[in-house]
Amino acid sequence: MVYFLNEVEHKFIVLNLRPKIRVNPVPEELRGWNWHSPPLKPYYDLKLPMYLICNDYCKTGRDVYMTMVEGKRGEEDLSIRLGKAVHDAIAKAVRQARRLNFQARIEPDDAIQSAVKAVWDYTMAACRSAYLKARAEQPYASEEDVISTSIPFLVEHRMDGSLLGCSGIISVDCYDYLRNIVFDVKVTAMPTNARLHTTGYALVIESLYEIPVDIGCTVSISFRDNRMSVSKDIHFIDANLRSWWVEERDRKAEIVYNQTDPGKPESCPPKCMFRNECL
Ligand code: SF4
Repeated sequence: MVYFLNEVEHKFIVLNLRPKIRVNPVPEELRGWNWHSPPLKPYYDLKLPMYLICNDYCKTGRDVYMTMVEGKRGEEDLSIRLGKAVHDAIAKAVRQARRLNFQARIEPDDAIQSAVKAVWDYTMAACRSAYLKARAEQPYASEEDVISTSIPFLVEHRMDGSLLGCSGIISVDCYDYLRNIVFDVKVTAMPTNARLHTTGYALVIESLYEIPVDIGCTVSISFRDNRMSVSKDIHFIDANLRSWWVEERDRKAEIVYNQTDPGKPESCPPKCMFRNECL
């Protein structure tokens, strides 16, 4: 399952990442619960969606202008529809698994649905295995306790990001509440700014629940020749990432506040949703 870490990944966290975090902790002013003081305090009284703050495919931020000022929505291509379908399948599979409904099935009827089925079966099998293992190891535990500890994930957890200048309805792909790890799924090759998304979600969790979230994990899922592959980038949500997120939030909020078209970058990615509007 995309949110279960394997043995090597656990060793990396316990023996590499956590000791580094203890030596070089996150400065207090960059914890989400300090949203009311600079530098986290939003400079403009605006609320931006998390994806607009974190996306970097439009180097000038014209996507922000088009969405927030011009009210354009852009056009979804196949890769965006695939990404949405895969996110939806993972979340539904985890929810079914937490109800012990491991027999729940979906039937594919096109290319997107084949990918969805692959990720569904993978998620369900991993959840079932984790549940049965915990059940066997703790035979006197209540059902609820076994589920809560063997599948410890809040999926598509809704949060209010307004304390940090984000939208009031943010959905984090997954939060592992036992290990304090925030997950973000990408159905593409790993983007260069992927860690910005986990950073934004960690800051919002800290602002709401006042618990430290030091570790993020970006899960990249790809499909080729009917085969699914999964890779993970587990990382420390450190001071540099947090400062970078704040800079991006303020840079993009300024575009919206001033309602000034920032212009086009030197080149536009071929899959930009706004190509028909801008070019
Ligand atoms: S088409 Fe180009 S200028 Fe327009 S939003 Fe996309 S990347 Fe930016």
